[in-house]
Amino acid sequence: MLEVFQRKSEIFSYCSRRKSLGKTIGFVPTMGALHTGHLQLVNTALEQNDLAVVSIFVNPTQFNSAGDLLSYPRQFDQDLKMLESLGSDKIVIFNPDVQGMYPDGMNNTGTYDLNGIDSVMEGAHRPGHFQGVATIVHKLFSSVEPHKAYFGEKDFQQLAIIRHITKTLNLPIDIISVPTIREDDGLAKSSRNALLSEEHRAEAHRIYATMTKVKNKFDVQKIDDLIEEAIHDIQGSDNLFKVEYIEIVDENTLRPSANPQSPLRLFAAVWANKVRLIDNISLI
Ligand code: AMP
Repeated sequence: MLEVFQRKSEIFSYCSRRKSLGKTIGFVPTMGALHTGHLQLVNTALEQNDLAVVSIFVNPTQFNSAGDLLSYPRQFDQDLKMLESLGSDKIVIFNPDVQGMYPDGMNNTGTYDLNGIDSVMEGAHRPGHFQGVATIVHKLFSSVEPHKAYFGEKDFQQLAIIRHITKTLNLPIDIISVPTIREDDGLAKSSRNALLSEEHRAEAHRIYATMTKVKNKFDVQKIDDLIEEAIHDIQGSDNLFKVEYIEIVDENTLRPSANPQSPLRLFAAVWANKVRLIDNISLI
């Protein structure tokens, strides 16, 4: 049985004790509904540290609608089994409740300076989302005070936000990124995939297939034409999906770049009925 801590004070003193014995701690923040993408983060943390702390907390302040928060999949017992299936006794779980993480309520969350990273793509379409992310990650970091923390490239803009706050707040934590894990048909693994209808799930391969096509044609076709074609390919003549945005930006600035040397990355957000899917791939 893996050890589960619910209170911040408990996980804090547990981690402090282990650190005072010279143990290193890798931290993997999650919102649960774990899949093999999350497990990849945990395995990487285990490889690089003496101990992996996995937090499972559905953070209300990063959701844009009450409906989305309510429908977010929650399956703590199954999550526990998945983590146990890794067969390691070096994993501990932090599973706080909302009151524990937000003792003063959630009204005055986050006034972090996110340097404009929060005003493009996900930030532009999900107002306040990244303030909520920054707020909870900062709270979790101060509960665990890990040596390293692990985040997926699947949420590439989130990774940029975390790197930014870690730097500006001088937090002594190494931020480690882990490549996106995909289903066999290319769909990026996501807790939200479980909410897809059968029809949307069967066709969701369109997203990654189209992104790969853009990557392959990138050198020979105009960007605007490529994006227009990509929107059409994903949405389909059946309009099964609705593309919210497809953007090609410099992966360091998350802004468009005219410089051909820029490390460009393709980002997409797509609605499948009420389920919102995001993905990104490097174009270099
Ligand atoms: P979430 O529980 O969705 O908030 O995700 C927790 C962490 O897992 C974040 O750092 C995500 O970027 C990462 N993650 C989610 N899906 C994937 C995936 N398919 N591949 C790699 N990392 C992922």
